[in-house]
Amino acid sequence: MQELKPKVAMDYLEKMGISTLTEEDNNLALALGGLQKGISPLEMAAAYATIANNGEYIEPVFYEKVNDHYGSTLMKPKQEKRRVFSKETAFIVQELLTQPVKGSNGTATYCAIDGMDVAAKTGTTDSNYDRWLCGFTPYYTAVTWYGYDQNETVEFNNRNPAGLIWANVMARIHAGLQTKQFEKPFLVQEVTVCADTGMKARSGCKNTYTEYFLMFTVPDLCNKHSGSEVKTEEKDDNSKTEIVEDITEDIDAEEPQIDTNVVTTIVDEEEEDNLNTDNNENTNTNTNTNSNTNTDDNIGGNTNTNSNSNTNINSNTNSNTNTSTNSNTNTDTSEDDSTSTVEEEDIPNEESSE
Ligand SMILES: [Zn+2]
Repeated sequence: MQELKPKVAMDYLEKMGISTLTEEDNNLALALGGLQKGISPLEMAAAYATIANNGEYIEPVFYEKVNDHYGSTLMKPKQEKRRVFSKETAFIVQELLTQPVKGSNGTATYCAIDGMDVAAKTGTTDSNYDRWLCGFTPYYTAVTWYGYDQNETVEFNNRNPAGLIWANVMARIHAGLQTKQFEKPFLVQEVTVCADTGMKARSGCKNTYTEYFLMFTVPDLCNKHSGSEVKTEEKDDNSKTEIVEDITEDIDAEEPQIDTNVVTTIVDEEEEDNLNTDNNENTNTNTNTNSNTNTDDNIGGNTNTNSNSNTNINSNTNSNTNTSTNSNTNTDTSEDDSTSTVEEEDIPNEESSE
């Protein structure tokens, strides 16, 4: 988001029909969905449908047509359509959004429909005031929001009520349909990637995963390991279709627990230096952003003295505190960097966004 600039993201949101953005939303908290006014479920559904419709926004309507009793059409809604992004970009986002459903750390695994590609994204706000589930299949897009008119914490026994409504409705409306997958455009390539370098994997790369790229953005071969290029076999799931069965019992799953350590590690490796700058720029960001930033500072500050790490723990919602912590870090490191401690790595990361 920092490289892209929040304004660019806001322009895309507006092209996808989001009408409630304000100038105050023009900051990095946008990446986590921290918005001043929020987004209505209807606009959220139309925006997700843009991704599901391979990049084309279609204005939502509430009726298809009005006929008289002779069968001739009296009224048809004018429905605006526009292309927001290419079908290649849309496919890559579709694939990314299947990870909460089929990924090993997925937060919406209970939304799976046998044999069908399902994209789904959970959402939570501070103090669990709001619960969201936004997602789609090749057939339908649906969005559910669960919360109170006056903010109150949603307590639901470790279950995501928005998610369970979504899963139960979607499972039922897909019953009897043929299974279907998102269609990969020709210009998108599935590539096996080395997890250590982020480059195209060789046979000597130990940790690999598959990722989708626009043809002309495929990375070079891994420069850290040896061996021949790993070819990725393109799957052709649409070759065998079956009929989706009706569900006989309600879906009532507890939320999968997220492994926050994984998130912490990734951020630590990639953004350690940049995040200090973020703090300085964004004193108004919400607690979501701040809690991530603090974690980075803590880990990045392995050469801190103990007193510094304590300061970090207590500064979860105030980026001003981070700024002063940074200057402390510099001073202390130059004077005394032998008092390293690793206990900072165990500082729990406040759950910010799933
Ligand atoms: Zn490698």
